[in-house]
Amino acid sequence: LIRIEDVNKHYGAHHVLRGISTQFHAGQVSAILGASGSGKSTLLRTLNRLERHDSGRIVVDGIEVNDDLRQLEALRRELGMVFQQFNLFPHLTVLDNVTLAPRRIRKTARGEANEQAMELLRSVGMEAHAHKHPFALSGGQQQRVAIARALAMQPKAILFDEPTSALDPEMVKEVLDVMKRLAQSGMTMIIVTHEMGFAREVADRILFVDQGQVAQDAPPEAFFRAQDNPRVRAFLGQIS
Ligand code: ATP
Ligand code: MG
Repeated sequence: LIRIEDVNKHYGAHHVLRGISTQFHAGQVSAILGASGSGKSTLLRTLNRLERHDSGRIVVDGIEVNDDLRQLEALRRELGMVFQQFNLFPHLTVLDNVTLAPRRIRKTARGEANEQAMELLRSVGMEAHAHKHPFALSGGQQQRVAIARALAMQPKAILFDEPTSALDPEMVKEVLDVMKRLAQSGMTMIIVTHEMGFAREVADRILFVDQGQVAQDAPPEAFFRAQDNPRVRAFLGQIS
């Protein structure tokens, strides 16, 4: 579904992505692990063109990721994104947060958009809060709304950048549970996370990013079992 070929990216003199090549298949759940500053967010953000890469190729479901605006529109439709800080629109109700993109971009009629949104809010356990504003919700509730909002565009894949890192510990589980159900439903997911237990249980595959390169790419059992890569060992040692 997503193909990355020899992608490089610099911030000034800093070489942040260094020749990354990999693929993400439809239905696959990939967890991206790595130390702070290793380039995980940058990698995710180049996939939907929140950042541009300097060289190499990225193709998402046949769409070449480049500066072509029509391509960009199609791309943003295909890839949902969930951020660490939820990024809900503060002035809109939960329901309007979820229906905004379908109404504006997909031109879905209000009634139909509302119906679909209520269905999605039900699926993340937020139906009862549809008419509240984000400030009236806990972090975990806001993040569940953000997931519903991403789903509302019927994306081919969803990118998550540390979706539980900003949450109080007691709210992490409710968000991970929603993500787990989403994974079981067959959604293609790419998840930057520090939740090792979740990665181990839910991901089909773990990519370990180190200094802008994919240093390991393995199924969770193999990744967490015998670790002969000293950088991965050091990373896992810090976390656990
Ligand atoms: P974290 O776990 O802390 O989120 P990360 O793996 O997501 O880290 P990135 O955010 O991708 O790391 O950043 C990779 C490197 O690029 C870091 O050294 C960071 O300081 C630098 N960087 C990121 N964004 C920018 C930017 N907009 N301008 C300049 N440098 C940046
Ligand atoms: Mg990051």
